[in-house]
Amino acid sequence: MTTFQIRNLSKIYGTDNSKVVALDDVTLTIPKNQFVVILGESGSGKSTLLNMIGCMDKPSTGKILFEGQDLTKLSKAQMTEFRKNKIGFVFQSYNLLPDLSALENVKFSTELIHQSPEGAEQALSAVGLKDRATHFPGELSGGEQQRVSIARAIAKKPEILLCDEPTGALDFETGIKILEVLKEIQVTTENTVIFITHNKEIAKIADRIIRLRSGKILSVEENLSPLAPKEVEW
Ligand code: ADP
Repeated sequence: MTTFQIRNLSKIYGTDNSKVVALDDVTLTIPKNQFVVILGESGSGKSTLLNMIGCMDKPSTGKILFEGQDLTKLSKAQMTEFRKNKIGFVFQSYNLLPDLSALENVKFSTELIHQSPEGAEQALSAVGLKDRATHFPGELSGGEQQRVSIARAIAKKPEILLCDEPTGALDFETGIKILEVLKEIQVTTENTVIFITHNKEIAKIADRIIRLRSGKILSVEENLSPLAPKEVEW
């Protein structure tokens, strides 16, 4: 079973002299219910690819098929609808609202898409922060704030969780905890996690490792024995 089938995808930013080929003829299949890492150096096109998959932006050419539907053909309104219904995003920066408590931050996004409020509480429990629900972002550590942002992303139970270097701003120990939370969520909710990183060690926890270089796919590796996050060292 696949989620995304990406065909001959290219993205060119700018024009003429300022032209940057961020993705260059990428063809790729992303299976369902896997923890997928997209690995590459800074500037290799990882965020660009994630943004296309998450319907944040459109490619210059190529197709992204999701359950037979070509996402590149969607209108702006349909792209927004797709993001709301299917995708959770976790970024390196937590982007929490400072005047809302942890629970309110999670509820704020779930209410926007008409989900039941208990989803927010469940999500905070899932990331181990039930007892910090009334705390404000300023009262939480970086790792805890990232866990709130993960709760916010998963509260609507998205089929696909897109993670853009979510451990990038965290120390090693905290980063491992975040990986544990994400891995557990992927296994228990059977969703698809696509996680981008430049860190080769983190890639070892993935079921599938897609290497990007200069906007092209370098390799796709099926990892039959992924490491548990606590076995990873960097
Ligand atoms: P990564 O996530 O691997 O660091 P990106 O996808 O952010 O890579 O960037 C790929 C290339 O596209 C880089 O050369 C970057 O400078 C360029 N790029 C990304 N976004 C834009 C943009 N909005 N306008 C122009 N160039 C961009």
